[in-house]
Amino acid sequence: METINNYINGELAAPVSGTYIDNIEPATGQVFSLCPDSDERDVQLAYAAAKQAYPKWSNTPLEERMMLLMRIADGIEKRMDEFVAAESKDNGKPLKLARAVDIPRAVSNFRFYASAIQHFASESHHMPGVGINYTLRQSIGVVGCISPWNLPIYLFSWKIAPALATGNCVVAKPSEITPYTAYLLSQVCMDAGLPNGVLNIVHGLGTKVGQAIVEHEGIKAISFTGGTETGKRIAATAAPMFKKLSLELGGKNPTIIFADCDFEATVKQIVTASFSNQGEICLCGSRIFVEKSIFEKFRDAFVARVKKLKVGDPNEDETNLGAIVSLAHKNKILSYIHLAKEEGGKILCGGSEAKLSGRCENGYFVEPTVIEGLDYRCRTNQEEIFGPVVTLTPFENEEEALMMANSIKYGLSSSVWTNDLKRAHRVAEKIEAGIVWINSWLVRDLRTPFGGVKASGVGREGGWEAMRFFTEPKNVFIKS
Ligand code: NAD
Repeated sequence: METINNYINGELAAPVSGTYIDNIEPATGQVFSLCPDSDERDVQLAYAAAKQAYPKWSNTPLEERMMLLMRIADGIEKRMDEFVAAESKDNGKPLKLARAVDIPRAVSNFRFYASAIQHFASESHHMPGVGINYTLRQSIGVVGCISPWNLPIYLFSWKIAPALATGNCVVAKPSEITPYTAYLLSQVCMDAGLPNGVLNIVHGLGTKVGQAIVEHEGIKAISFTGGTETGKRIAATAAPMFKKLSLELGGKNPTIIFADCDFEATVKQIVTASFSNQGEICLCGSRIFVEKSIFEKFRDAFVARVKKLKVGDPNEDETNLGAIVSLAHKNKILSYIHLAKEEGGKILCGGSEAKLSGRCENGYFVEPTVIEGLDYRCRTNQEEIFGPVVTLTPFENEEEALMMANSIKYGLSSSVWTNDLKRAHRVAEKIEAGIVWINSWLVRDLRTPFGGVKASGVGREGGWEAMRFFTEPKNVFIKS
């Protein structure tokens, strides 16, 4: 069985404890590798390596940093098949999704920030007759990056790439549920010649490794993506230590469909926006609001399409939904379907686990589930399920749609489907979310700010936002 190791000071290292956690393939329920069960001692080693590497790395010419990040991107691309297979095996997502989305996006994260550092500018403000202010944007030092299991290498690299590009050294922790592609990344970094200690990857549990990173006095900034409850805990620890924090948290995103949408195209895209990656994308729309005049027509066409989705072995080409990431998460999703029934919801399709045969007979699969008849205020409609479960709710008019969409503690993303341009702008302005897609979903432009409002987080990733997060502005005034 393959043993994953930490990546500390440029070398692969066993955890100090010598113990490992089983890494399970969710499609089969079988252990396929062992993940280090690291603790604060490993974090301390990683920090010491990062601290030692920092003076040189932060003064490395931008062009050299750019070349190294480009080499990392090339290294992932060269091992594309291996990364795709590992991402799918670790997470349960269809192989074809990992090939189309996760791994190419990880490659472009490194390429984007390799190039961005060459163009990152700082401001100057002239005070006529008095002097000039200029702003230095300097790296922070050693920073912590902690990521979740749903888009493992894609989200991991989205933090690491801007942190390294701006001259920081990093102690990073991928999810213990999906550690494999981060392990491959450490091999790629070694091959690319990334100097020792610049990036350190410590595997293990959130309560041990994650907590130790957040608590470490010397780690000055934390970029975290994960659940809202974990985010709260991290904020409670890090805020009194005056650490810089970026928290990308949970969501329960509204999809608002008006009667004047392009009907066929909308139905098709909403199926994708609801069930991609088994609904385990923080940006999936899980509360679908449909204008009353087309509610039944939409419901019937939508359900007919959802029924055609194939839940299957992630390795098979025709599979639309692969496995749920873990047994615990499968059980959580099923408990919410049970709750929806108790709350008076009518299951239009799905509603239970999917039983597969052969290789996947012990895997964790859930049928894509569509529910109607629930009050927008009920728990099923207010709490994050993070699986292949959506609700359908009719609305009378724009005001009601917005009221229901905004009636929630989360505010990550949203999508609006209409051909009325003025209404699209109006709704986009009023919706309480960090991202609004009009007649589209999951389109990514790396230059734009990414993140949520309310309980979906604070701070932004993407583009210059991430570069600003990973640097400290220092104003210098020179008298004329
Ligand atoms: P999680 O919060 O359980 O774990 C995320 C990471 O934090 C993991 O690496 C985990 O080990 C670590 N962690 C756990 N406890 C910790 C602690 N006390 N201190 C430090 N680190 C700790 O989340 P998850 O279950 O891995 O991911 C699913 C969640 O992530 C969902 O809520 C989803 O909406 C959210 N998510 C948000 C975004 C976004 O961009 N806003 C993107 C993807 C996923």
